[in-house]
Amino acid sequence: MSIRGILFDIDDTLIDYSATARVGLLRHLRAEDLLDYFLSPEEAVLLWRALEEEEYPRFLAGELTFTGQQQLRTKRFLSHIGVKERDPVAWFARYAARRDTAWAAFPDVPPTLRGLSGQVALGVVSNSSRAHQQGKLEAVGLHEHFGNAVLCSAEFGAAKPDPSIFLAGCAMIGLPPDQVAYVGDRFDTDGIGARDAGLRAYWLDRTARGVAHRDGVTVIPSLSELSATTFGHFDSH
Ligand SMILES: [Mg+2]
Repeated sequence: MSIRGILFDIDDTLIDYSATARVGLLRHLRAEDLLDYFLSPEEAVLLWRALEEEEYPRFLAGELTFTGQQQLRTKRFLSHIGVKERDPVAWFARYAARRDTAWAAFPDVPPTLRGLSGQVALGVVSNSSRAHQQGKLEAVGLHEHFGNAVLCSAEFGAAKPDPSIFLAGCAMIGLPPDQVAYVGDRFDTDGIGARDAGLRAYWLDRTARGVAHRDGVTVIPSLSELSATTFGHFDSH
């Protein structure tokens, strides 16, 4: 059975979220005179990302709102350096404004999507909020490849790796799961999640040396492996 549709994760798959968050945070800390509170810029970035890894899943689990997890990350980050902030919402908004001019797609993304457009149905399934993700896709010029085929956990009501959001993604592009590939950068959330929902799972590991297979998931080092011409090659495995 050939692949007739591809659903993508967004952050750190299509858009270089980690690099953008780093640039945005360092710009923000410099502008707010907070960088000297840290031993190094790296320490600040590691703390910021660690707090995100702790609080963002609470948003995905429905314990916090999207803005609620932003406020909590801000409060915890600033309390770590002993800074009191009366308005964490405004503080985060200033960070986001500095970050949002730095969004960038990975270099392999535009040519891959151009090559796939018209060959297979394309969509995204993301653990985030739709307005936020639409804004990012528009900022990097990728939105036209997906049209309305953008499904986000905040609006859907369940997050990856729950099978229901993968299946809803397949329904969104009008294909059965065994004809749909899912591509994401998190092995468990994206790869295993998609596999268990019955999709063709691809784990994007940009450190991998080549295409490999692991636990029913195809490991790819670059999105350029997804060109329409190589799908036949993957089918033979
Ligand atoms: Mg991701």
